[in-house]
Formats: sequence, C-alpha cells, structure tokens
Amino acid sequence: MSPHQAEHYPPWLVLHVPHDSIDVPPAVRGQFLLNDSDLLAELTRMTDHHTLALFAQPDSPAAVVRAPVSRLVVDVERFQDDAQEPMAARGMGAVYTVTSHLKPLRRPLSTGEHEALMQAYYHPHHARLEAAVSDAVERHGRCLVIDCHSFPATALPYELADPAVDRPDICIGTDAFHTSPELASAFVTAFQREGWSVSLNKPFAGALVPISRYQRDSRVSAVMVEVNRRLYLRESDGERMPEFDDVASRIRRCCLAASAAVCSLRGFLLFGQQDGRNILTLSKQSNDIQVTGSIEIQPCQWESG
Ligand SMILES: [Zn+2]
Repeated sequence: MSPHQAEHYPPWLVLHVPHDSIDVPPAVRGQFLLNDSDLLAELTRMTDHHTLALFAQPDSPAAVVRAPVSRLVVDVERFQDDAQEPMAARGMGAVYTVTSHLKPLRRPLSTGEHEALMQAYYHPHHARLEAAVSDAVERHGRCLVIDCHSFPATALPYELADPAVDRPDICIGTDAFHTSPELASAFVTAFQREGWSVSLNKPFAGALVPISRYQRDSRVSAVMVEVNRRLYLRESDGERMPEFDDVASRIRRCCLAASAAVCSLRGFLLFGQQDGRNILTLSKQSNDIQVTGSIEIQPCQWESG
C-alpha cells in the first residue's frame, strides 16, 4: 500500500494526550480547597475532554502516551522546574495552586508533598513518552509527536486573553526546531480542507518534545493540534455532541494525511565514476518515496582553494 492510500497512522507516530483525564485520586483529593461540585465544575472547564477518542486510532501501530490523572493533579505539559515554566508565575506550573479563574485551588504543599506528586505522576509519564519516542527513532529513524489538545470556545480567565475575541476551530502549535515549515503547512492545509478555520500558534503556541531530544535531535518532529471544543463537546457538562464520531474521524484523517510531510533523514551522498566522469549522487528517502539525483562534477571544482 502506498503512503497516499494508508488508513492507519504510521508506527513512528506518537500521540501525546496530556489533558484528557478527569481522575483525581482519593489520596490527592484532600489537597484541594474546592467542594465536590466546584471541583467538578473546574474539571469540566479545564479537561481536554475525550481527546484520546478524538485522536487515537485503536488499530494503528502508533504509540499513545496519555496522562492517567487530571491536569489539576499534575500538569505533565509543563516544565518540571517552575523556574523554566512561564505559567508558574500564574500559579499554574506542573502543580497548580490556582483555578482557571485564578482563585485558590490547593492548600500550600510541603516540598515533600510536591515531590511526591511529581514522582507519582509527572516522572513516570515523561519516562513513557521518552521510551515511545526512542522506540520510534530506533526502529524507524524518525518520530512525529502529535500533542493532542482541545480548548474552550471562550477564553478562561487564566489565559489572560480577551474572551470577546472569536477563536478558530483548530489551532496548530509549532516549535522552531522540531516543526519544519512543510510539516506546519501540511497540518494547517489538512484541517482547512475540512472546512475548519485554522490558526497557527494562536491562541496556543508550541509543541511538546521529550526533554532529552529537545532542540538536539532533528529526527524528532513535533506539532500540537488544539481542537475547539465547540466542534464536538457540550461544554456545560463535558458530554459528547451527536456529531462526535464524525468530527473524530475527520481529525484523524487530517493527522494521517499531514503526517506524510515528515521527512526521514535517511539518505546518502556518494562520489563515484561513470564512463570516466566524476559523479556525485544524492539520494534521500522521504517516507516510502526514494528520490535520487546525480550530477557530474569537474575535478577543478575540488582543487581550488
Ligand atoms: Zn490541553
């Protein structure tokens, strides 16, 4: 089957699903200052509901790394060190201290309690992500991490954005090192073809990459896809809308089509002789397509200087 007819995500794709869970373990519940109904309302506002079901293809070989607890417990999308995390200044580093309305969320934690949360939920999640990416790179020479999110139709107070500004259907987030212009453009175009409005790095920017590869390994590509919840969700209670399955299959189709823009770095450069002429051959493999070209080079080009 050619890559253009593929129906399943490729095995070098990793879906990162950080904000889909609504689980708050009983051992952590006591840290929160909210009563049950206020906590439920906060979970409803802050969860990227059903993003696993929106993005994942159960039958594909792509790896899925999903955070098993709510972002209110620990937000795995943040830097572990508050000094590096811009949202920490707002009380929303890896361990939130405020709600989406910038009101107190948690009682103050001791250093030991903070560390226990990171050990229980943050580090194991990132170890799974690192392993999935390493596995793809080792087996296939490349990896694309799709960071799977959704966002409310109206900006929440913590975003410090104007709630009156209309938001796009889809926001694509990129990283200067890990997202090639071709990859960004392929994602934007794929979603636009579905008739959705798409913006780049607005209202949300960036794309997550495992820290060991960050700005070091160009075999690892990354893109963030943020879906406006008005497309698939009843935002008042987090229930799926009737068109959920249709929207999900369109999202998966877009991700599948756009992932083909990831270029493998497999290729070679060869000097040789053919009929007495010096030949330079460049061969590059992109997905399953091999492109090879040769040019004749004159000896004097290599003797000067
Ligand atoms: Zn999210």
